[in-house]
Amino acid sequence: MNFQPAELTQQVAQTARDFAQQHIKPHVMEWDESQEFPLQVFKEMGKLGLMGVLVPEEYGGAGLSYFEYKTVIEEIAKVCGSIGLSLAAHNSLCTGHILSFGNEAQKKKYLPRLASAEWIGAWGLTEANTGSDAGNMRCTAVKDGDEWIINGTKNWITHGKSGDIAVVICRTGEPRTRDNSTSFVVEMNTKGFSAGKKENKLGMRASETAEMIFDNCRVPDSQRLGEVGEGFRQAMKVLDGGRISIASLSLGIAKGAYEAALQYSQERYQFDKPIASFQGISFKLADMATEIAAADLLTLQACDLRQRDQPMTKEAAMAKYYASEVAVKVATDAVQVFGGYGYTKDFPVEKYYRDAKLCTIGEGTSEIQKLVISREVLK
Ligand SMILES: Cc1cc2nc3c(=O)[nH]c(=O)nc-3n(C[C@H](O)[C@H](O)[C@H](O)COP(=O)(O)OP(=O)(O)OC[C@H]3O[C@@H](n4cnc5c(N)ncnc54)[C@H](O)[C@@H]3O)c2cc1C
Repeated sequence: MNFQPAELTQQVAQTARDFAQQHIKPHVMEWDESQEFPLQVFKEMGKLGLMGVLVPEEYGGAGLSYFEYKTVIEEIAKVCGSIGLSLAAHNSLCTGHILSFGNEAQKKKYLPRLASAEWIGAWGLTEANTGSDAGNMRCTAVKDGDEWIINGTKNWITHGKSGDIAVVICRTGEPRTRDNSTSFVVEMNTKGFSAGKKENKLGMRASETAEMIFDNCRVPDSQRLGEVGEGFRQAMKVLDGGRISIASLSLGIAKGAYEAALQYSQERYQFDKPIASFQGISFKLADMATEIAAADLLTLQACDLRQRDQPMTKEAAMAKYYASEVAVKVATDAVQVFGGYGYTKDFPVEKYYRDAKLCTIGEGTSEIQKLVISREVLK
């Protein structure tokens, strides 16, 4: 077993790191405070292949593995969780869904545009009344000749307003029955589609989260992804990969907070000593380093299984659950290490603290991850 990242992974990490330092870091707090979704940054990342990391080269992507994907999300999130979240949603939810379940014509039409960031992708599963209970969705699609008519609302959608296309999972059968939903690609300039309320959030403020409204929105049958009735099952598979994204996002935030705390603890003096010399602080750093390393290994395990096309539902849920809880704990302790300064916007840890919380909620809460894991271990 070799735990050393491959040379390619290290090169990709360096590219993402350089990009984040140059194009993201100088603007992090400005975007956070104004809740601006910085579209231009995503266009630039498209030029570097970061918007289609897993998309094969034949469809215009970078054709890289899950190990490089993890690294990219991590390096960007180390600098800004919001940009990391949007990058993850674009790559693994919208693009990942089309890559896994689109037919050849759909892949040829959509993947090159998504991978180059000509188009930004959204993915709509959640509704106002159905978050964890997503299978109970109310948004419907009804067949009418060669078209489907979509009606309903999707909430909490990353790029729900600024996106160009969305994969939307709609109910096509009776409520609370098996196989009652189907996925569609909706071009967001289609008549009958509109964006609703943009959420005003605690953290991840530069990642746009908005409502998508469908009012007799007609979509051709050629934009149906896979078979009628398999939408929810597709979504669960997409979320397995999505959990690698959120685990990587969590790792980036945790590492960013840890590195800031590590440095500060050696620079800040109290009682004529650096605060790192107090066991109360150094043990915090020891716990952070240990828990981050454990989260990293769980995430690498999920990447390895996914890369080899092996079942990984349990491992992806474990990685997402553990890494996200670690991110919250590390960011909380990092604020503590900074003391009063950590509570201000002059230092980066307060933002890590706010951003980290999303990781225990999005793409399945920690409680839902425990449901998934317990189901798997009790099989
Ligand atoms: C910033 C952000 C971006 C998002 N982006 C997207 C996106 O792009 N696309 C998308 O489709 N969705 C997106 N979401 C939605 C997200 O996936 C949901 O918020 C999440 O799944 C939780 O659903 P909920 O908010 O309705 O909470 P609820 O399901 O109402 O849960 C409330 C609480 O009850 C607990 N709970 C619920 N059911 C159970 C149970 N059976 N056992 C134990 N506890 C339970 C939960 O763990 C939680 O603590 C996003 C959310 C946020 C905040």
